[in-house]
Amino acid sequence: MNAAEQTVYRTRLASDLAQQLDSIAGLLAATGKVAQDVSPDMRQARLDAMAQQVNTRDQLEKFNLRRRKVEAALARVDAGAYGLCCECRATIDDDRLDADPAEVFCQECADEREAP
Ligand SMILES: [Zn+2]
Repeated sequence: MNAAEQTVYRTRLASDLAQQLDSIAGLLAATGKVAQDVSPDMRQARLDAMAQQVNTRDQLEKFNLRRRKVEAALARVDAGAYGLCCECRATIDDDRLDADPAEVFCQECADEREAP
């Protein structure tokens, strides 16, 4: 992979990372508002708050997972190992990286991992 291609992927990864951080910050800000929201129907409000908490936790987990995956990909760019399969070190196909610039495995290793 040449330097220009790497720059394209690095830019996409950096914007992906910014998006995850925005989403995380937005969720945390929204959680603060929910806690202050006082409804006349306390039981329903408590149930809603509990459901909201579970939902928020799931979403936070999802955003944090993606954030870590993107950060790891950016670290591979810096280390000069970007675009290489983390399992067998083969070059990851461009179409896989285009679909997800944070892709970790080549097609073959991804297939092997999915096999039962
Ligand atoms: Zn591989």
